[in-house]
Amino acid sequence: MFYDTIRQKSTEQIKSLHWQITDICNYKCNYCSERQYDKNRFHYGLSDQKTISKVLETILNLPGSWQIKFGNGEPTNHPKFLEICEEITRSRHTLCLTTNFSAPREMLKKFVEICGEKLNFVTASLHLGQTNVDEFLQKAIWFDSIKDPQTCFIVTNVVTDENFIKIKHIYKELEENGIRLELQIRKSNERTVMYSQKTEEYIANKLHGNQRFIRDNSFFGKECYTGNLFFIIDPIGNVFRCYQMITGGYLGNMVKGTFARYPGSLPCLSLKCECVNAIERNLILFKKKRNIGRITRHLAKSIKADRMVLKKLLESLSISI
Ligand code: SF4
Ligand code: SF4
Repeated sequence: MFYDTIRQKSTEQIKSLHWQITDICNYKCNYCSERQYDKNRFHYGLSDQKTISKVLETILNLPGSWQIKFGNGEPTNHPKFLEICEEITRSRHTLCLTTNFSAPREMLKKFVEICGEKLNFVTASLHLGQTNVDEFLQKAIWFDSIKDPQTCFIVTNVVTDENFIKIKHIYKELEENGIRLELQIRKSNERTVMYSQKTEEYIANKLHGNQRFIRDNSFFGKECYTGNLFFIIDPIGNVFRCYQMITGGYLGNMVKGTFARYPGSLPCLSLKCECVNAIERNLILFKKKRNIGRITRHLAKSIKADRMVLKKLLESLSISI
């Protein structure tokens, strides 16, 4: 059965949050889902000091131990990145980083020294059109040798039919050095692309996370702990349930003090799920049957909540409806 084939290391829910301290990136990949290549696309930029302080205050007070993940945009470009990490290492939480690996070695070394065994994992994404492959590979091998033994380190790469030949060589080289390369499926118009049969066969068992299982899939109505045990914070402190723009998925703003987590799991209201993190952290309760009553109630409440948010936003902009 589909759900039995999902890759899960344990069945316990893992608490985690994704903190986007910036939504800008120094690379401009032509397949970027955040459209960093598009000059007309709005980006907030770097989180300011007030936002950083408020977010830190809130997350350091979360009950229990959480994985704090930095990624999307390029977090290492934020001048306060190391300071923030240092602050988190003094708490009961741990850290994870997804990076394009463009940061200089001295900075990565400092990062490793600051985080020590509190660094759960680092994902270095290799973007063939933006970086020198040999330098990247040497850096990856070096990083693997200096990181704490507790830290899981992997390299990822977005597959295109054009870079497929190069990937095979890179995969082999990393494998020989004991580093895992996991592949990511390219997206176009919000859907994953289909590759040639040869490429599809090669990537089938090398995909990052559970992409193979969630590829253009929907778990609408399934109970999901995102919003309670997982959330995303944007550069100005807005908090969202998960990676999908989802009805009722806005959880308030940490700077304004309006942030509140869901009390527990709630039905998914999205027609699409791309949240590999949610699966890996056992947050989607696949085995639990959909409950129509709960879905209807949550949907009605969410629509009302979204209307309130919109009304407040329009009021703050002095626009009447
Ligand atoms: S490195 Fe990542 S965030 Fe930056 S442009 Fe490339 S795909 Fe986008
Ligand atoms: S889209 Fe995925 S992660 Fe988000 S609520 Fe639905 S099932 Fe959960």
